[in-house]
Amino acid sequence: MDGFLAVETGRRTTLKAPIGCVGIGLHSGLRASLTLRPAAAGTGIIFRRTDLGMDLPARYDWVNDTRLCTALIMPGRPEVRIGTIEHVMAALTGCGIDDAIVEVDGPEVPIMDGSAAPFLFLIDCAGTVDNLLPRSTIEVLKTVRVTEGEGPGAAWAELAPNATPGFEAKLAIDFPNTAIGRQELSLRVTENSFRALLADARTFTLAEEVTKLRSIGLAQGGSLANAVVVDGPMVLNPGGLRHVDEFVRHKLLDVVGDLGLAGAPLHARFSGERSGHALNNKLLRALFADATAWRWVDGGVEVPAPATAASARREPVAA
Ligand SMILES: [Zn+2]
Repeated sequence: MDGFLAVETGRRTTLKAPIGCVGIGLHSGLRASLTLRPAAAGTGIIFRRTDLGMDLPARYDWVNDTRLCTALIMPGRPEVRIGTIEHVMAALTGCGIDDAIVEVDGPEVPIMDGSAAPFLFLIDCAGTVDNLLPRSTIEVLKTVRVTEGEGPGAAWAELAPNATPGFEAKLAIDFPNTAIGRQELSLRVTENSFRALLADARTFTLAEEVTKLRSIGLAQGGSLANAVVVDGPMVLNPGGLRHVDEFVRHKLLDVVGDLGLAGAPLHARFSGERSGHALNNKLLRALFADATAWRWVDGGVEVPAPATAASARREPVAA
């Protein structure tokens, strides 16, 4: 089983046992406990606010806030939200976990060290187990592209058909006159490449942004322990970077987490330039709004695409 790559032979996978950790929310600064729990085949990934007794499905159409993180919000109930889901989603998606409950006792997933590595560690400690149902995948049939802004500085993201089964991704970011500069990364995202290249890349911010964010009540829990902070040509973290291209690696980790909200592994090729959470979500919305742009594939057997995005997630059927 190899994450996104397990498109023909994959069986739905869940955790072998519950496991948890405690940390603080990057934006709220609040202490939060997180527990990953096994779930029955067909459950998908569900976030559970244990303090409210409410469930939020990890689906692109439940994302209603992409301001510096990806947040799920219950329609009509703005207080029922769970923020900064992208790194734990990346870990679950990267490991090919289809069914799990992610319990959190507050409004935000703990940031831990700013990467997906601590969540990967939890998954590895708990172990995984194959459920009996075959894994359904989503095959992208034609190119879908979304943009933000205009001219040479425009940001864009697209999903296109992939010649070989699985998920490939190519991303470029551009932060002129900083330690980040222009970075590009292209890779076939498998469980192995996710673990080796993306999982430990930390989130980052520019020093001048930190003051701005705090003044509007964000990044209250942010520190050099959970984010890389860049001040012009300098990286302020005493330990420096984990990789010279840690920044673009992290942005690709975010892509894996954000596109994990499709509800099933994607058989597609992703490309992006300066894309972030908002564009990643817009991209999934554009894909599922066009019924001719994708189709379900069930264990190698083609099934017709649902007529509307609202029915995009259906329960898998036993073979
Ligand atoms: Zn991130």
